[in-house]
Amino acid sequence: MKIAVLPGDGIGKEIIPQAIKVINAIKEKYSLDIEIEYGDIGGEAIDKYGTPFPESTKKLVLEADATLLGAVGGPKWDNLPFEKRPERGLLALRKVLKTFANLRPAKVYDELVSASTLKEDIVKGVDILVIRELTSGIYFGKPRGVFEIENFPLREYYSEDELKGNKVGINTLKYTDEEITRIAKVAFEAARKRNKKVTSVDKANVLEATSFWREVVEQVSKDYPDVELNHMYVDNAAMQLLRWPKQFDVILTTNMFGDIISDEAAALTGSLGMLPSASLGGEKGLYEPVHGSAPDIAGKDLANPIATINSVGMMFNYTFNRPDIEALIDKAVREVLKEYRTKDIYSPGTKLVSCSQMGDLISRRILDLN
Ligand code: NAD
Repeated sequence: MKIAVLPGDGIGKEIIPQAIKVINAIKEKYSLDIEIEYGDIGGEAIDKYGTPFPESTKKLVLEADATLLGAVGGPKWDNLPFEKRPERGLLALRKVLKTFANLRPAKVYDELVSASTLKEDIVKGVDILVIRELTSGIYFGKPRGVFEIENFPLREYYSEDELKGNKVGINTLKYTDEEITRIAKVAFEAARKRNKKVTSVDKANVLEATSFWREVVEQVSKDYPDVELNHMYVDNAAMQLLRWPKQFDVILTTNMFGDIISDEAAALTGSLGMLPSASLGGEKGLYEPVHGSAPDIAGKDLANPIATINSVGMMFNYTFNRPDIEALIDKAVREVLKEYRTKDIYSPGTKLVSCSQMGDLISRRILDLN
């Protein structure tokens, strides 16, 4: 098992060592042959190599079976031009690994119901899997950029009146039927192993590209008669997630809607620090917490490492086909949470611990569990 590890920036450097403690505990417990190699990405790579995704990192991730990423970005690099910023490293990494399907489970642990800002009866038992399309849609569509009006590539589509001013900014929402079909299949397959319900989220009443999305998803669903499909506009979905989140099982959606909806689902669980993710589709998986580099708490040993630790669980399940190890990590996390909490999920009656203490507690519990 060869794992490429890219800690990145900010709290990436604090949460990744905790995930490594967990990997080492698993390695010891099951006598597994696990090889770990580190690489640079994001702001740190910009400082060292002048690019957020250096060739050495590309080679490393393509040679590994799976990649574990911390987070990228931070105020130090915020003034760089958009195409040179740390976040571009992440987009390049996803592109290289061809990971078009981003799986973001939002599960509310019974132990953590009190950490949510919503009422207990609303969030207790919530278990949602958001499946976000990751390598297309408006984050990648062309043309894109900010143009002088006279150089705007789509001038012919607009009247003089619509192009008044000096400059114009544009992004393009594009999906092909092939791109929609492959992500829809991931969602239906996942639903088959869960509660057999897919909610496809779009804005089919306004955006043609997502009305087409709806049509293709409907077509794919014919091969999955055992899975219930319903469609929801994204504005309604955002509201329903807060009103009655238990109505959802698998949410299937586009790149941008998925980015937003999954952060909202994170809020149900109490903290962004609890949400893991897996990005699949190519031959190799990419595993990372949903959150960013959290510059406001970086360097203080305050971050919650559980999103990253649970991403390791997803790695054992999806890349190494060991759902039993994912279940064991999940159990260790739950047991530790009964007594100990990082600051973001702290509640009175539990003991407040640092990021590194949380890593120690969970990895030790893994070794102690039968
Ligand atoms: P963020 O996710 O870094 O932080 C949002 C809030 O959540 C902050 O208050 C932060 O302290 C808190 N938080 C996040 N992770 C936490 C954890 N593990 N434990 C406790 N609290 C946690 O989002 P942001 O502030 O919008 O972005 C900060 C930087 O991260 C930016 O440069 C952004 O571009 C980048 N970013 C990177 C990724 C990624 O690497 N995948 C994702 C999102 C944002």
